[in-house]
Amino acid sequence: MRTLIDRIGQLLVVPAGPVRGPDMDRVPVLRDAALVIEGERIAWFGERADTPGGEYEHRIDAQGGAVLPGFVDCHTHLVFAGAREGEFVQRIRGKSYIEILEAGGGIHVTVEAVRAASEEQLLAGALARLRRMLALGTTTAEVKSGYGLRPEDELKMLRVARRLRGMQAVELVGTYLAAHTIPKEYAGRADEYLDAMLADSILETLYSGDLAEFADVFCERGAFDLAQAERFLTECGRHGLRAKLHADQITNTGATKLGVRLGAVSVDHLEEADESAIAALAGSETIPVLLPGCTYFLNGKPPAARRMIEAGLPVALATDCNPGSSMIESMPLIISIACTRLRMTPMEAIVAATANAAAAIGRANRIGAIAVGHQADLLILDRPSADFIAYETGRNPVRMVIKRGRAAWTA
Ligand SMILES: [Zn+2]
Repeated sequence: MRTLIDRIGQLLVVPAGPVRGPDMDRVPVLRDAALVIEGERIAWFGERADTPGGEYEHRIDAQGGAVLPGFVDCHTHLVFAGAREGEFVQRIRGKSYIEILEAGGGIHVTVEAVRAASEEQLLAGALARLRRMLALGTTTAEVKSGYGLRPEDELKMLRVARRLRGMQAVELVGTYLAAHTIPKEYAGRADEYLDAMLADSILETLYSGDLAEFADVFCERGAFDLAQAERFLTECGRHGLRAKLHADQITNTGATKLGVRLGAVSVDHLEEADESAIAALAGSETIPVLLPGCTYFLNGKPPAARRMIEAGLPVALATDCNPGSSMIESMPLIISIACTRLRMTPMEAIVAATANAAAAIGRANRIGAIAVGHQADLLILDRPSADFIAYETGRNPVRMVIKRGRAAWTA
């Protein structure tokens, strides 16, 4: 099947990731452009006047709108049950995230809800979220476990993510986050808990069952320390799962440097990452994933995005969609917050949400770029410039979402 997207007002020619440092703001922009899709892939793009002739089974009129790669939401916890609007209000009234956690609230509320939920209930909630995310331009999302914290419940979460792949258009990537927090029944016994979650039988099921590609750990005071994080990721790595870390979010633990040393695919959060962490990342292939939804939602300190870009890092962005610290499904909103709070330019934020986010889940050679041979995951906006994504905060600028060469959603 051959499809022509015609009358593109602005085509953002985002190169394949990782796109590093100042290059993030130097993306070529074609005006009055066209793009040809053959099957699932981008076959040609350029100025309209040069459009290749021949038969097109489909013609899509972009009506002067901007076209860019579909968003890759490379860090989400979108399979969950329950809600935590009460603690959101408590925080506004002055309680801290840690105070709420220590009072038995926070993540444990979600853990109980997920353990009590059936696979069908989890599936229904996540499916509704994914439909909204697709309409907001997300064409690929990473999905973490981490609210089950028991073998059967962690596997339940990841089975839900696997089933969702066949039910809707957003491509999903599973991550085993059993080391998210220490469950109450293992309080003070983190190592014993890890022993239970690192059983060969579980790790073999994850990889061979196509349930997870990555392993992730929340390395933080009160959660898992550096030695425990290293053990968890190394054991998972022996079973084929590549490493990711929740690193340097609330305190500077040195987790970013650990991630670099372990060859992690990404280190995520980095609100408290210091100059030595940035220097370690600069000499590595590890992608720094920033989550400005947390900055917004928790009214917290933003990560040093400008400093990281100056240091030549390939910064990526994601929603961190979760019921506790970032109840945000919208990549356009994340891009807008990245611009206003992290002082990224709209182009840097778009590259971070596409090419570099694809690199953060090991898929930069297939998705996240406008390049011949890349998968045709595309957004057509109803505005002539992609700057409107950041500028019209809270509005959805997406007119059409194309996934694997086919229209997956239309406004
Ligand atoms: Zn997270």
